[in-house]
Amino acid sequence: MQTCASSPCSTDTTDTRSFLDRVIVRDEIDRYYQDGRDFIDDDRIERDLKAAVNPDPSRVRDILAKSLAIETLLPEETAVLLQVTDPGLRQEMETAALAIKHKVYDNRIVTFAPMYISSHCVNRCLYCGFRADNRQQQRRQLTLDEIKAEAAAMCGRDGHKRVMAVYGEHPKTNAAFIAESLQAIYSVEVPTRRGRAAVRRINVNAAPMSIADLKTVQQAGIGTFQVFQETYHHPTYARVHPAGTIKGDYGWRLTSMHRAFDAGIDDVGLGALFGLADWKFEVMGLVTHARELERYSGVGPHTFSVPRLHPASGSEISRHTLSPFSDDDFIRAVTVLRLSVPYTGLIVTARETKELRERCLDLGCTQMDASTRIGVGAYAAASVDQEIDKQQFLLGDNRTLEELIVDLARRGTITSFCTAGYRCGRTGGCIMDMLKTGKEGKFCKINAVLTFREWLDDFASPASLAVCEPVLNRELAAIEAQMPAFYPTVKAQYDRIVAGERDLYF
Ligand code: SAM
Ligand code: SF4
Repeated sequence: MQTCASSPCSTDTTDTRSFLDRVIVRDEIDRYYQDGRDFIDDDRIERDLKAAVNPDPSRVRDILAKSLAIETLLPEETAVLLQVTDPGLRQEMETAALAIKHKVYDNRIVTFAPMYISSHCVNRCLYCGFRADNRQQQRRQLTLDEIKAEAAAMCGRDGHKRVMAVYGEHPKTNAAFIAESLQAIYSVEVPTRRGRAAVRRINVNAAPMSIADLKTVQQAGIGTFQVFQETYHHPTYARVHPAGTIKGDYGWRLTSMHRAFDAGIDDVGLGALFGLADWKFEVMGLVTHARELERYSGVGPHTFSVPRLHPASGSEISRHTLSPFSDDDFIRAVTVLRLSVPYTGLIVTARETKELRERCLDLGCTQMDASTRIGVGAYAAASVDQEIDKQQFLLGDNRTLEELIVDLARRGTITSFCTAGYRCGRTGGCIMDMLKTGKEGKFCKINAVLTFREWLDDFASPASLAVCEPVLNRELAAIEAQMPAFYPTVKAQYDRIVAGERDLYF
C-alpha cells in the first residue's frame, strides 16, 4: 500500500535515467510510424495554412455544409476556416458550430472535477509548476485513504459523479498505483440528503504508457484516457521539454493513443497547451491527430481539450507565453475545432474565466469542470484558497458546481451527470456512430434528465431548485413529445429516482 510522501522535492532519490530507459518502449513508437516518420508534418501544416489565407466565402460555406453533415474535415479545410477573419463569415461559423453542438449533444453540458493525486514528477516541462527542478513546489502524493477522502468530498459535498484523476510522471505513480487509486475512488459511497452518492466515472490524465501498463489501468475501469500533446510543433516541443527527459520524446507522446487503442482503451482525449506555438498550428495538429486515430482504429477522439498556459510556480514562460493566444484567438480555436471534428466533445476548463467559458457555450463546448481545486488533497482540506506553490497553475473560474449548474439553467441548459456510456459499452466506434447520427443526443437526453433529478434532490438549495426545475420539466416534456412510446418507461425510472433510488440509467 502506498504511503504518504510529502517532501519539498520529488526526485532527489530517483534514478531518473533508468526510469526513462524503462518507461519508453521504442518498438511501441516505431510501429506506428510510416517510413520512419510520425504523422505530423510541420511543413505540410504550414503550407496548408499559407495556402488558405484570404479564403473565398463560397469555399468557406461549402466547408460549413460538410461540418453540418457531421463529417470530419480535411486538414486543408480546417486551414481555410482558421484563416477566416471577416466578421460576417465568422458569425456564420459560430452559428454553424452551435447548430452542430445541438445536433450531436443536444443542449446539455457534462460536468466533472479534476482530482490531483500526485505532484511528483521526473520531467522538466518549462511551463509546469510540478517540473522536477522547481524547488518551490511543495510535493505531495495522496495515500489510498487520502484519495478516498478526496472522493468523498467531491461526490458527497459537491455532488460530482465524474472525476478526472491527474498524475505527475514518477515511479511512485506507476500503472499499478494508478489502477489502485482508481479502485480506491470507485470504492467510496457516501449518504446524501435523499440517497447516496459515488464517483461513477473516472477519466485519467497521466503520462503516456506502454501497452502493458495501459492494460493494467484499463482493467481498473477507466473512462476517457487523456494525454495532451502540449504542442504539435516539433521545434517548440523540443524547446519546452528538455532532451533526456521522458517527456522530451515527442514520438512517445504522439503515439500514446495508438497504444491506448491497442490496449483496449477506445475512449481517448486529445489536447494542446495553447500559448506555446502558433495556435493555428495547434488546431491543425489536433485535427490531424483526430484523423490519424480515425484511420488507425476507426475511432476518433472522444474529447478535445484546449488548456491555455496559466501562471505556474517557478515558471517564467508560463507568465509570458511563447506565442500570443488572446481570448479572441481562443474563441476562434474552439469554433474551428467544433466545426472540424463535429462529433468530438469539447472541454473548456476552469483555467479560463467565467465570461470566456460562457462564450464558449455558444460555440459548442460540451464539458466543464466546477468546484475545481487543483492542489493535491485540496478537496478534503479546510482552505479553498489557491496556493501557487502547492498546485500546478492558477485558475480563472472559481464557481462551485451548484453555481455553474444554476448559471447553465438560466441559459436553458441542462447539466448531465450521465455516466452510462462506458458502463453500457457505449464507447469507441459504437458511441462515434451514435454521435454522428444524432442518436446519442436523444439517448443522453434521457440520462441527463434522470441524473439531474438525482443531483437536484441530493444537493440543490431551494433557490437553485427554483431555477433548475423548469429546465428539467421542459426536458421531460420534450422526451414525452419526441418519444411518446418510450416515455412511460422513462417516467417510471424518474419516479423511482424521486423516491430515493439512485444510479438508474438507460
Ligand atoms: N503529467 C502528465 C502529463 O504531463 O502528461 C499529466 C498531468 S499534467 C499535470 C496535465 C496537463 O496540465 C498537461 O498535459 C498540460 O497541458 C497542463 N499544464 C501544465 N502546466 C500548465 C500551465 N502552466 N498552465 C496550464 N496548463 C498546464
Ligand atoms: Fe510533469 Fe506533466 Fe507537469 Fe510536465 S506537465 S512537469 S510531465 S506534471
